[in-house]
Amino acid sequence: MALPSGLATSFPAESVPADTAAASDPDTLIMVENGAGAGPFVLLCDHASNRVADAYQSFGFAADRLGLHIAWDPGALGVARLLSGRLDAPLFWPDISRLVIDCNRPLDAASLIVVESEGRAVPANVGLSGTERARRIERVHAPYHDAIDACLTQRHASGLATILIAIHSFTPVYLGKARPWHVGIVFDEDARMANALIKGLAADPGFMVGVNEPYSPADLVYYSVSRHAPTHRLPAAMIEIRNNEIGDEAGQKIWADRLAEILLAATPGLLGAQQAVVRCLQVE
Ligand SMILES: [Zn+2]
Repeated sequence: MALPSGLATSFPAESVPADTAAASDPDTLIMVENGAGAGPFVLLCDHASNRVADAYQSFGFAADRLGLHIAWDPGALGVARLLSGRLDAPLFWPDISRLVIDCNRPLDAASLIVVESEGRAVPANVGLSGTERARRIERVHAPYHDAIDACLTQRHASGLATILIAIHSFTPVYLGKARPWHVGIVFDEDARMANALIKGLAADPGFMVGVNEPYSPADLVYYSVSRHAPTHRLPAAMIEIRNNEIGDEAGQKIWADRLAEILLAATPGLLGAQQAVVRCLQVE
């Protein structure tokens, strides 16, 4: 999965793990696009890729598993990239399947490196040594989150207000049960961004909007956002789009346009509040 030319690593080199510096290198696992984007959003796409890098081929990840939603979030990267362009937003994504390691899980979660997903065995991960587990964390999970943190820290230092958004997709049928929502908004106690998204999406009566559905933070799916947003006091939300809505470029464009409009409309209210907090902290 190659990066479009010119989008590779505009993020300042000193803040980025070495892997990121060579986007044409097939061993590059952490992707940063439009890293110098100066719009008010930073985008994450934790499950963008179903690639298994060469270093992990020997584990024998089954090809028929890699095509399934258990390996990645189909369509999510397409939407995230379009949004990155519309919003002039830095976009972070690991170019590796979540079956190798899930960047959107805490390090102590059983689902960090799965041996089973949605009733399907993942034998490539059975009996994994502690050394290999630590290596995957060191090569993928840690540099991904370090790169995000560096970007957010630098934006704060530069006076750039930020809203953090994670883009995911979900399967229309899970364990034999159809899911009625077209889109779900996942959030925790900070509902500022989520409320604006839910209100904006629900304005179209044709949509069924999941509120902390089909997942909620209790499912551990909110890890990336909850790791970074509170630290930097950022408004944030996670957007889960049903993957049959974004299976092709036309669908991805429709959703990117729809979401961009809502996100931009919400920005003055959200960042006004954030900047007030910053000013208050500076006064203290
Ligand atoms: Zn996902």
